[in-house]
Amino acid sequence: MNGSAKHSHAGLDEVRNRIADAARAAGRPPQAVQLVAVSKTFHADDIVPVIEAGQTVFGENRVQEAKQKWPQIAERYPAVRLHLIGPLQTNKVRDAVRLFDCIETVDRPKLARALAAEIAATGKVPDLLIQVNTGAEDQKAGVLPDAADDFIGQCRDEHGLSIAGLMCIPPLDEEPSLHFALLRDIAERNSLAVLSMGMSADFEIAVAFGATHVRVGSAIFGTRGQPPA
Ligand SMILES: *Cc1c(COP(=O)(O)O)cnc(C)c1O
Repeated sequence: MNGSAKHSHAGLDEVRNRIADAARAAGRPPQAVQLVAVSKTFHADDIVPVIEAGQTVFGENRVQEAKQKWPQIAERYPAVRLHLIGPLQTNKVRDAVRLFDCIETVDRPKLARALAAEIAATGKVPDLLIQVNTGAEDQKAGVLPDAADDFIGQCRDEHGLSIAGLMCIPPLDEEPSLHFALLRDIAERNSLAVLSMGMSADFEIAVAFGATHVRVGSAIFGTRGQPPA
């Protein structure tokens, strides 16, 4: 940590200003875009100053890592909300439903079924987003764009899940706007309000394409090291 002032955080302030500018440029109110501060690989020492500067929504990509570091932080800051933004294995569904307020990576029937069972058993209902693999990349999670409508219907009708919206991670080497437009189209035709898209490199473009949530890590926290083992 580099000694942030208690109620100001340079990285956070800059990202917030850029989001607000991008929203205004797109004719959208700045409050229409929620910032999810992606804190993966960072420790409490780095995270707490961002909370102290007013940020309440954070994203983590690994259940295990979140389980190790967030309960102690959340005890001090109960208003914090956590989003799971990485792939979820069915054997971690119990932990995930307990830890996270939003699970952004629902992407297959087996996971939808496990989530429905855990929600029924516990009464805890996280917001759910479906991850769409807009670039149809082999190494990436997410339902394929062609299968998205059916999967959304299946989550709703077969599993009784309330789906809030969609999430995508565009291919690194492609123009992200095509992927953001595709995600927006799938959301529109399925009457889904939430669009989680845009990261440090492209969140302003995502805001122009209607993102309601941007997931920004390095632009706030700085360059990431290796994830903890
Ligand atoms: C790490 C990560 C981010 C944030 O990436 P930055 O480039 O650091 O902003 C956003 N979304 C997902 C799914 C991630 O895993």
